[in-house]
Amino acid sequence: MTSSVAPVVPRPAATVILARNVSDGIEVFMMERTTAVEFAKGMHVFPGGALDRTDHHPEIASLCVGLDDKSASETLGIEQGGLAYWIAAIRECFEESGLLLGYRGNDRLLELATDEADRLAALRLEMAQSKLSFIDILLKEQVKAATDRIAYYSHWVTQAGRPRRYDTRFFVAQAPEGQTALEDNHETVGQIWVRPDQAIDLHRSGALNLMFPTIKTLESLAPFKYVEELLEYARKPRPRQVMAPVTGMDRAGVSHNLIPGDFAYAEIKKLDTDNQGTCCSYIQPGQPVTIGQDVLRVTAANPGMMTGPGTNSYLIGNAEHGVAVIDPGPLLEEHIEALIAAAPGPIRWILCTHTHLDHSPASTLLKQRTGAATYGMPPPPFPNQDQSFTPDHIVTHHERLNIAGTVIRVVHTPGHASNQVCFLLESQNLMFTGDHIMQGSTVVISPPDGSMIEYLASLRLLLDEKIDYFAPGHGFLMDKPAENVDRILIHRQERENKVMAALKKAGKPASLEVLVKLAYDDTPERLHAVAQKSLLAHLEKLRTQARANQDGNLWSLASHV
Ligand SMILES: [Zn+2]
Repeated sequence: MTSSVAPVVPRPAATVILARNVSDGIEVFMMERTTAVEFAKGMHVFPGGALDRTDHHPEIASLCVGLDDKSASETLGIEQGGLAYWIAAIRECFEESGLLLGYRGNDRLLELATDEADRLAALRLEMAQSKLSFIDILLKEQVKAATDRIAYYSHWVTQAGRPRRYDTRFFVAQAPEGQTALEDNHETVGQIWVRPDQAIDLHRSGALNLMFPTIKTLESLAPFKYVEELLEYARKPRPRQVMAPVTGMDRAGVSHNLIPGDFAYAEIKKLDTDNQGTCCSYIQPGQPVTIGQDVLRVTAANPGMMTGPGTNSYLIGNAEHGVAVIDPGPLLEEHIEALIAAAPGPIRWILCTHTHLDHSPASTLLKQRTGAATYGMPPPPFPNQDQSFTPDHIVTHHERLNIAGTVIRVVHTPGHASNQVCFLLESQNLMFTGDHIMQGSTVVISPPDGSMIEYLASLRLLLDEKIDYFAPGHGFLMDKPAENVDRILIHRQERENKVMAALKKAGKPASLEVLVKLAYDDTPERLHAVAQKSLLAHLEKLRTQARANQDGNLWSLASHV
């Protein structure tokens, strides 16, 4: 019999970062938790904690200044109950530190003269003994919560698999002046005001224990020079990524946390649903990784500037139905052996996304060894193409291949190469993109075979497909396909704008060598030779659209632009 443990549902929580201006930046308020508590033992934390019943008190709205539940909920992106998070942040701050973000009357922020401070300290003690609720104190003291003074900052969710999980909204606020913080000597035993970068240094030297979200939050706070600047940033409407860390294993076998934006994040999140921390956060050539049902990835040992961690080969299928290999990679004996060894059944099909030298050259030898049939589009007549690839079956756009016990649909996506195709494993909404989409770097579009106009159209084509993950020719699995495609489209538009500006700035017909310095001034010069290829692709697009003129090697703005 197997015992199943119900997954731990994250508890709603609120945390507040109190900040104050100092001569060389900002300082934030942190409290040291006692080692006698279960959660965050001995850690330095921002004041905060789980929401409680009283935070949803029916009278709460009348005790809040400048914020109602509707706009609070909208800001947090939830249906209702948003205001309770603001109240919880203020309540926890008062409970743990004695600092009360409140108004006496409607306009005067509490400063707490000595007699007031003593009275509130007594009430705080009664609250700790559960004799009074926070609401009782607000009502009794005729204080209103300064909900207009704290701004929503970020959203963190504890990893799956942890015994205590919190769904925490982080807020920022200017520290109330004229009040002195006092630890509660119950959960918290010490307090500091510290510059965010200093806190990180102290953590590195072992003087301060910090949790992962706290470290990441401090890193994000470090660049702010004034509290006002921080608050303005926090208040700006912007999409907020849910920061739900996952645990991965690095090369040294040490587990570490990853957040959205880290290359291996989406893959680990997909593959390690219980967050056991067993997935690698690096790509090891030759090491098979199961990335889906009957889908393996084996990366070739050809890492480099253009190939990232190396070219990914994918194996789809099983012993019963046979195996299809997507992109057997460069001609590396070792890699071919690794593919044959990793295949869970006989390799019967070899599919190539395109015929650049890092993707298809191993086909001939792999075919010799296995007798598999080759699928793809023939190489165009250019020097950087693998002319040895002569497909047994020439694939066509939207053709459905019934192979390896499944259906793989062909999507022709010219641009990076005229014969670039993507393969969509329909049963898993998993698209093998070759170099049409790659992780972590901009795809080079190199005329005459590469075409910017076709590339952009091929990117838009992906928005029509049902895709959950991209399995790129280089890099880890990528989630949020539509967002990724949009991001690339925007990036290309920005570059085109820079190319137009470069033509204008040059003021007379100019060569690629001159234009690349202007249009790619944000790119290291060592990459300019490669950048010139994509620059040419942009210029050819502009020429086709009658926005630029070409005269031999020289380019200029069209006269009507
Ligand atoms: Zn490639």
